[in-house]
Amino acid sequence: MPESPSGSTLDLSLVIPVYNEEANLPLLWPEIREVLDPTGLRYEIVFVDDGSRDRSAEAIRGFRERDPRVRLVRLKVNSGESAATDAGFKAARGRWIVTMDADLQNDPHDIPALLGHLDRWDAVTGWRTRREDPWIRKISSRIANWVRNTISGDAIQDSGCTFRAFRRECLRGLTLYRGFHRFIPTLLRMQGFRVLEVPVNHRPRRFGESKYGIANRAFSAFQDLLVVRWMAERHLRYQVIEDLGGEGREG
Ligand code: UDP
Ligand code: MG
Repeated sequence: MPESPSGSTLDLSLVIPVYNEEANLPLLWPEIREVLDPTGLRYEIVFVDDGSRDRSAEAIRGFRERDPRVRLVRLKVNSGESAATDAGFKAARGRWIVTMDADLQNDPHDIPALLGHLDRWDAVTGWRTRREDPWIRKISSRIANWVRNTISGDAIQDSGCTFRAFRRECLRGLTLYRGFHRFIPTLLRMQGFRVLEVPVNHRPRRFGESKYGIANRAFSAFQDLLVVRWMAERHLRYQVIEDLGGEGREG
């Protein structure tokens, strides 16, 4: 089990990509503590500042001064949500990892329920059954999910929801590319991991702006989808049934 610098084992790492979320962070941090402190879990919060141009990093440094469980991983320039998520995965030390947005749209009160499934599942991904976004976003996302499932052959209701929980083992062999945060559940299933989709609460964005519009999402996400389909088709599937004399092989 991974060890924190103090020598104690960590149960949970929260990985939170942050891009210009200064108004949301001061509300998010206490809400997370309110939910997680009573659970007795040993946890860290890895905020990944993805090149914010506002005062997000300063806010996180302020939390850190008051609570050493807060960590700040800061990217040099804005590199995208997948890059920020990847940096968070690499920094995370917990045996469970939860990803969530920094904009208060995901509700920290769902975290214990997500973790509750990790005894039987390798990963759990949220499904925003009552999504609180503008209607145009809801419709375009419904179309996107249909296209994704039809082309990838997967069945994920809400691949745009990045509120998820993972066992640490699933992330070890995961290689992300730009835009691939949407496909993490599909990629994990491809590798044989068991992924469950469960309803989660969703709240309207009160402060700051969504980083995605229809155009910057639809075109690049469609290209990504073709790559994911290709990966699914070409995924190596084989079983070794004999390995005679392989004892001295270098690991
Ligand atoms: N985000 C990021 N880098 C980016 C774009 C977004 O770290 O280049 C973060 C953002 O701050 C938020 C999360 O990723 O915490 C999801 O972004 P957003 O809320 O804009 O997406 P939406 O909920 O509108 O799909
Ligand atoms: Mg959001």
